[in-house]
Amino acid sequence: MKILVINAGSSSLKYQLMDPDTGDVFAKGLCERIGIDGRLTHKVPATGKKVEKDLPMPTHSEAIEAVLGILVDPENGVVASVDEIDAVGHRVLHGGSKFTASCLIDDACKQAIRDCIPLGPLHNPANLMGIEACQTVMPGKPQVAVFDTAFHMTMPPKAYRYAIPDEYYDNDSIRRYGFHGTSHRYIAQRVAELMGRSDLRVINCHLGNGSSLCAIKDGQCQDTSMGLGPLAGVPMGTRAGDVDTTVVQYIMNTYNKSIDEVFTLLNKKSGVYALSGGLSSDFRDLEAGAKDGNEKCKLALEKFSYEVKKYVGAYAAALGGLDVLVFTAGVGENGPATRAAVCDGLEFLGVKLDPEKNAQRGKEMIISAPDSKVTVWVIPTNEELVIAQDTKALSQQ
Ligand code: AMP
Repeated sequence: MKILVINAGSSSLKYQLMDPDTGDVFAKGLCERIGIDGRLTHKVPATGKKVEKDLPMPTHSEAIEAVLGILVDPENGVVASVDEIDAVGHRVLHGGSKFTASCLIDDACKQAIRDCIPLGPLHNPANLMGIEACQTVMPGKPQVAVFDTAFHMTMPPKAYRYAIPDEYYDNDSIRRYGFHGTSHRYIAQRVAELMGRSDLRVINCHLGNGSSLCAIKDGQCQDTSMGLGPLAGVPMGTRAGDVDTTVVQYIMNTYNKSIDEVFTLLNKKSGVYALSGGLSSDFRDLEAGAKDGNEKCKLALEKFSYEVKKYVGAYAAALGGLDVLVFTAGVGENGPATRAAVCDGLEFLGVKLDPEKNAQRGKEMIISAPDSKVTVWVIPTNEELVIAQDTKALSQQ
């Protein structure tokens, strides 16, 4: 079976054609600059072949046409015809409280995604454009929406409610939703497979350019660090993470800035990027800077690991103990120094790293010492596989 997984942004669209049973990726790539000019990057993992092309992409429909064109291309393609693609799975940012699971796309599902635009104003419209482009270019092909928020819908009210007046929850659905749910769900499933049981207290640290932590009990989300939007939680590449809202009021009043300007500042110009003095949001640059004695880079890295550690402590308390700690995503999978800094001082919780194992990167492995009470794993995340599996399951119903 071949499933096309689509992650559509406002001016970009990522794709993977994959086998939902084996996880094999036949081809993957990226359309960029949609609505501007258009550029396609296409890779075939089996041969290592990479193709880059400038192609006009005035809308997402031309981008999808370009993707299908290269997938069936006699020279660079991996299928003889579009008929070989069984179904399409879409990553959708916000499913509100309505979607606790993935859904086969029909008019009602599309309307529900539209209804969630106020909650995901940047992403949901782009996700819808990707869905509608596929409907135009591949009419009749089953399509499935997989929501970044769905895994978190098992949180209890004490975790998802904000302590603000009821009317904002009742009328406007303002609550914690959380994101990276497809990644956290993959990790929850994979941990159960690797440990041979699912009755576990797990904390997953998804640490990438965007970062979130998730407290998981018996395979279900109990709490997560992002909130109504993805700005909450630990500091990220360019997002501030948790800040006292008084900071917002102060900056607005003192610098005569609008709320949108302050939000741009908190989303795009903050995080480790800001703490490094604007040097970089990339942890590789920060580590190189810290090695050269740059104090701002050192602080950025210290702040990041300190806040992640605090969430680990908080979630261990919320879960009533800890069995498994997982690191995933770009920094979690490839950053031994960050992992060591997060775990340093968590011996009281039963976390003991094996420095030699932790020095490795980019593969599935246990990095805790044999006598560590908590098993610490590095697990490369695979959101596309979850999307492909859900798409297979729902399109066959
Ligand atoms: P993601 O958003 O999951 O793709 O993660 C992207 C981030 O992973 C980048 O911004 C880097 O900071 C980080 N990263 C990738 N490779 C490494 C590495 N070898 N060492 C440290 N950080 C890395």
